[in-house]
Amino acid sequence: MEKINFTAGPSILPKEVTEALAQATLNYNDSGLSLLEISHRSDTFMEIIEEAQQLVRDLLKLPSNYEVLFLSGGSTTQFALAPYNLLPNNGSAGYLDTGTWSTKAINAAEMYGLVDVCASSHDKNYNYIPRDYRIDPDWTYVHLTSNNTIYGTQINELPDTGDVPIVIDMCSDIFSKKIENIERFGMIYASAQKNLGPAGTTLVIINKDLLGKTGRDIPDAFNYQKHIAKKSVLNTPPVYAIYGCLIMLRWLKKKGLNQIERRNTEKSKILYDEIDNNPNFIPHVRNSEDRSVMNITFTLAKPTKEKAFDVFAENHGFIGFKGHRSVGGYRASLYNAMEKGGAEKFVKMLRDFSWRFGG
Ligand code: PMP
Repeated sequence: MEKINFTAGPSILPKEVTEALAQATLNYNDSGLSLLEISHRSDTFMEIIEEAQQLVRDLLKLPSNYEVLFLSGGSTTQFALAPYNLLPNNGSAGYLDTGTWSTKAINAAEMYGLVDVCASSHDKNYNYIPRDYRIDPDWTYVHLTSNNTIYGTQINELPDTGDVPIVIDMCSDIFSKKIENIERFGMIYASAQKNLGPAGTTLVIINKDLLGKTGRDIPDAFNYQKHIAKKSVLNTPPVYAIYGCLIMLRWLKKKGLNQIERRNTEKSKILYDEIDNNPNFIPHVRNSEDRSVMNITFTLAKPTKEKAFDVFAENHGFIGFKGHRSVGGYRASLYNAMEKGGAEKFVKMLRDFSWRFGG
């Protein structure tokens, strides 16, 4: 039976990516070697990483003062490295608290400087994006979580932060849409395993003009300037994961971010329309302006039917849509690689379930 993968991450990838990785694992580009066996100092790998970096530059139209790194350690590591590299001990930064991942970023930043939590949606279990908070022009940066994977909220309109650069966690919506006015961002970071490729590497895009201003010594492995100087090969990088990102970036470039954005919007609309109109389902996020196009969260109107729903959906080939334990219910993740047909089939399953078990 066909399986359709709605997992929050590591998640669905285009067939082009898994097939290229399978082929490269056996015999990379007819070299007679597996991709797993090549040196990260070889020309072969340097061509891979340089093309991947260039594709990121092209997709986001990055100005020359921005650098593109592929690092290890996930977005969780960037929660600490961003303030470590950007925030002076006596400096302050604004953090918008939109859930678990921003809370972790706040906890890490508090070790390096003063953190001002400008607003929080904790009062309603993070089912909305706070608005109308004050941006302090003295902040070194303001930190946002672009898409809140667990709750299904997304910042669909960035706040006007004036001259204060935005540091943003785009772990679960990178390359899901166009990014306008890239100069507003001091730093963008995103683990690969949702929209960009296999787990194991994290994309870091940084305005290098902001670096070297903290006055603190930073060990090489944690120091963005050192990684930039060594072109992401300061130590052995995750070769395999970066190659997967390269194939995904080629796929994204071929489609174009306009088409990707249109497709993502269409997919999420198909699903939101159903859970808004079918009385058997309740959306977690009510305000359509705060809804994520990547992670659609909902509960059953009658939670006693959860067991029946789980079995029904699994028997029809749908996997990975269980909600995060802090929200409960369900979460269908519709990342870049999910076809429109996947969302349509999910909706058909919701209707079939309602017909048999609903009411
Ligand atoms: N930020 C967001 C928005 C996430 O969804 C996740 C992981 N799901 C993380 C950060 C942490 O990423 P990692 O596990 O790669 O450190």
